[in-house]
Amino acid sequence: MPSRATKIVATLGPASSDPAMLEAMIRAGVNVVRLNFSHGKAQDHIDRATLVREAAQRAGREVAIMADLQGPKIRVGKFADGKVMLEPGQPFVLDASRTEPGDIHGVGLDYKELPRDVKAGDTLLLNDGLIVMTVDKVVGAAVHTTVKLGGELSNNKGINKQGGGLTAPALTAKDMDDIKTAMGLKADYVAVSFPKNATDMELARQLCNVASSDGHKPGLIAKIERAEAIPELDNILKVSDGIMVARGDLAVEVGNAAVPGLQKHMIKRARELDKLVITATQMMESMIVNPVPTRAEVSDVANAVLDGTDAVMLSAETAAGKYPLETVQMMAAVCHEAEKTDHDPLDDDFVGAHFNRIDYAIAMGALFTAHHLKAKAIVALTDSGSTALWMSRHSVRMPIYALTPKVSTQRKMALMRNVRPLLMDTSADRDTALADAEAHLKKRGIVQTGDVYAITVGEPMGTPGGTNTLKICRAA
Ligand code: PGA
Ligand code: MN
Repeated sequence: MPSRATKIVATLGPASSDPAMLEAMIRAGVNVVRLNFSHGKAQDHIDRATLVREAAQRAGREVAIMADLQGPKIRVGKFADGKVMLEPGQPFVLDASRTEPGDIHGVGLDYKELPRDVKAGDTLLLNDGLIVMTVDKVVGAAVHTTVKLGGELSNNKGINKQGGGLTAPALTAKDMDDIKTAMGLKADYVAVSFPKNATDMELARQLCNVASSDGHKPGLIAKIERAEAIPELDNILKVSDGIMVARGDLAVEVGNAAVPGLQKHMIKRARELDKLVITATQMMESMIVNPVPTRAEVSDVANAVLDGTDAVMLSAETAAGKYPLETVQMMAAVCHEAEKTDHDPLDDDFVGAHFNRIDYAIAMGALFTAHHLKAKAIVALTDSGSTALWMSRHSVRMPIYALTPKVSTQRKMALMRNVRPLLMDTSADRDTALADAEAHLKKRGIVQTGDVYAITVGEPMGTPGGTNTLKICRAA
């Protein structure tokens, strides 16, 4: 398998829950497995996490688990027949008080406040905008609409209001329960759906801290999918570990055409603020049913790579598609190829830059020096993963090997672009650690005798934020 800097997030679902299939997908390049908390109960998620950890172990890789909270996604209820076929011009009632299964005339809602949030004339988009309805009137709990764009509407499909403005809080009572489950199964990342501002993310952080009995700290990913979140992007980034460009809901709220520009802006800002970014939704959509992607999908994945995303994400393609393994293989190949055309304007990154922390300055020094010496690799001995994160915010041709004694750090780093996380005991003194690091690199064929590499280390070892040494080595 060719080396690849961009990471792949794959959503687990019926199509990928067979242990052998999941293992094959991890071998083919999945770095992060997303558990979608919109489907299933607590025990299902716990079982799925075990499945992931076991498959990763068999494949000999560390993968991160991302628990994706459902959030206040406004969804239709279930239908008696699982689905209905809506025709343009027909009336359809979205009724928050309805308890019986839906039919061709209407369906229930899980979000009871919808009738309060909409008024006559509003446009509602269902199933990621494939179905469009206009609101005629609101009578009590019932939203009466006329179908403008028809199609198949099935159980639990999402509803958005054009232009945004639904008032639901970002963390529901279900999310609060799900956070406990996510902490119990030691999710490496928790993704928060529909945050409006930094406060929503701070609340999620507090809930994670409270729910964690042993100090486990997941990375927090803000899914940017609400119109209101766009002007708040920097504030959200500052209190999160990363963002997801959640193009499905975002496109429905802000209009399809605005999304590519927003994607570029979000990726750029995330990297500038030393945060992670995942590009999500419909990346290989046609591979849900076809064994090959469209040219447009290939270009979409490649462009996200060139935009600088840490990871590209698969949703239904791996959760419910016919070709989950082929999709991962194809995505990995497209990323690898796109990275060849990526340029590395590293010197420009440092123009006007100021470093006022020792550890940060050492990380940047390693990057700059390794780049100019055309080193084989950059190596960071890291406890928290920060050094590797900072380095990975810049494009360089050589891979960043992050050696850590902590499995939790190793897993977190699975999401970072161009970071290859490895587990290594660093409890001995510095010279032993440096020798062990070189032995690790040589054993894996990363460097050979005579090759130059840059390595950063803290002295004394194991102090968080203690990186203070850069050594340029020639492998013995
Ligand atoms: P979802 O989020 O798949 O959970 O809706 C991603 C998106 O909206 O793009
Ligand atoms: Mn979404």
